[in-house]
Amino acid sequence: MSCLFCRIVDREIPASIVYEDDRLLAFTDINPQAPTHVLVIPKKHVPSLNDLQPEDDRLVGELVRRAAAIAHERGISAGGYRTVFNTNLDAGQTVFHIHLHLLGGRSMQWPPG
Ligand code: 5GP
Ligand code: ZN
Repeated sequence: MSCLFCRIVDREIPASIVYEDDRLLAFTDINPQAPTHVLVIPKKHVPSLNDLQPEDDRLVGELVRRAAAIAHERGISAGGYRTVFNTNLDAGQTVFHIHLHLLGGRSMQWPPG
């Protein structure tokens, strides 16, 4: 049984797709926490940052640079935005397929809750 985000990759579950290439998918978060709230994921199933391997370094670089490119397209690069990987229980990870949250379009507080 595939995970939720693998099912989005496979188009078994609909999503508002923002970007796609052969290795990455980006889509709007179903419960947005900011005017821009996009999830950037690898198509490859990796449960969390704890599971990344050296051979994933290029993929992670692409993931991060894609988030920056989407921020640029949305016009929030200069104003600022936040990128977050939640990992496991204490960070509130709920979907165990790596996803980079891109949040922007409003000012944010630090530290996060
Ligand atoms: P996490 O808490 O694991 O870092 O983030 C999971 C994110 O996935 C949450 O922000 C949640 O709103 C989002 N999410 C959960 N289910 C779906 C879904 O079916 N579609 C989309 N687009 N986002 C989802
Ligand atoms: Zn998956």
